[in-house]
Amino acid sequence: MHEMALTESIVDIICEEARKQGFGKVRVVRLQVGAMAHVEPEALRFCFDAVSRGTVAEGATLDIRRPPGEAWCFDCGKTVAMEERFGACPDCGGRRVQMTSGDELRIDELEVD
Ligand SMILES: [Zn+2]
Repeated sequence: MHEMALTESIVDIICEEARKQGFGKVRVVRLQVGAMAHVEPEALRFCFDAVSRGTVAEGATLDIRRPPGEAWCFDCGKTVAMEERFGACPDCGGRRVQMTSGDELRIDELEVD
C-alpha cells in the first residue's frame, strides 16, 4: 500500500516544519491530491491516523482537495480535461498530451497552534 509511504513522507515534512517554525501542534493539514495521483483519500486518512500518532500532527484533520485532471494537447493547442493519466486527448484522440494538473500530491497549508 503506497499510501503508507506517502503518509510517512507527509508526516516527516510536517515534523520538519514544526522544528523549523517552532509550532507544537497541527490542527489541519490541507493537501492537494490530484484526481489522477493514484492515491485513495480514504486510505490516506487511515494511514495518517496511524503514522501521526505521537507526533505534532497527531489528531490533525486532513483536508484533501482533488483537482481534476487537465493536460495540454500539442495537436489541439489547448488545455483538455483528462480522465486518466496516460490517456489520449478526448478531443482529437492524439497522444501528444502533457499533464498540467491532476497528478499533484502536495501539502498546501498547515493550520497550527
Ligand atoms: Zn487534442
